[in-house]
Amino acid sequence: MADIVFRNVTKRYGTTLAVDDASFTVNDNEFFCFFGPPLSGKSTILRLVLGLETPDAGEILIGGKPVNAVSPAERNVAMVFQNLALFPHMSALDNVRFPLVERRVAELDIKKRVADVAAKLHISHILHKPPAQLSGGERQRVAIARALVRDPNAYLMDDPISALDARLREETRVELKRIQRELGKTLIYVTHDQEEAMSIADRIAILDNGRIRQIGAPVEIYDRPASTYVARLLGSPVMNILKSVRGEGSVEAAEGVIRIADKTAPADAVEIGLRPEDIRVKPWADGGSGRPARVFEVEPLGGYTVVTLAAGQARLKALLRGQPDIRPDAMVAISCEPARVHYFGQGGGALAR
Ligand code: ADP
Ligand code: MG
Repeated sequence: MADIVFRNVTKRYGTTLAVDDASFTVNDNEFFCFFGPPLSGKSTILRLVLGLETPDAGEILIGGKPVNAVSPAERNVAMVFQNLALFPHMSALDNVRFPLVERRVAELDIKKRVADVAAKLHISHILHKPPAQLSGGERQRVAIARALVRDPNAYLMDDPISALDARLREETRVELKRIQRELGKTLIYVTHDQEEAMSIADRIAILDNGRIRQIGAPVEIYDRPASTYVARLLGSPVMNILKSVRGEGSVEAAEGVIRIADKTAPADAVEIGLRPEDIRVKPWADGGSGRPARVFEVEPLGGYTVVTLAAGQARLKALLRGQPDIRPDAMVAISCEPARVHYFGQGGGALAR
């Protein structure tokens, strides 16, 4: 068992609170992702797990054992570093063997573990080649194999694929997810890329200035963000968040351009959130209530079209399927299913209906 637990862990650098009273449990075999903007404390959390940093307060447990006083080597947690470059003068095989040779593992065990990892990564047939003769994707897999060939309690990855180009990143992302599932190991993964976090993780912890703002499965956080902060971090285009006022049996925003007939709306809501894909747009001439919005800009993306709308003083983004016949400056009616509306109170916390 290699579950990893933080209990009220705080880490300061001088006056900077790098990690602020963090509590979480990464389950055994889980793909757990820390996601947050730069300097939010992601790398510090990994260094605390590794034992390269000691908490100022709180307790860290690995596999049920307190490890605050345990050395990095004894924790047996492997960091897969950002730099996945291979040694160019060695074959793929020697690259993968390297961490075990370095640790003087017995030759029989090396053979067994390399074969095992190579099979899981589908690279057995290319192990004899030097890196120069491999494709970008193959090199990536060999580098991951080299990182995974040790048999630690858990793997940590700090933004491991951010240096790759977009296509290779998407491929590697899928690989990593599959590999983690097959290896059945605890993996803590750090990224500042929301799409990566959403697509790869079993659960995500959202960080903000050293504080954990929400933990949950990706779709759970996407569908029920706990605050405007979290709501704005996940989703592309981001959630539209607008000041709201209560009307007669409805909630209004954007100077009456948006009117939502929702009797269950919480009384203390001061803002509403509308995901771009939840916004319906139709020509004003087809019948709207309240006031129209004006189409500000149209961005066709092929399968989807992003429409920017001027609604009173507010700008809104709607994500529409296909290529609707919508032109700039057209007057339109905007609506949204009441059940799809997010409500936020003073201070930005999400409100239950
Ligand atoms: P992230 O990985 O999310 O970018 P970090 O964990 O690297 O964030 O940093 C969190 C905060 O701690 C930042 O304010 C950063 O400046 C500070 N910090 C990190 N490492 C050190 C250090 N060795 N010395 C001083 N401040 C640090
Ligand atoms: Mg970092």
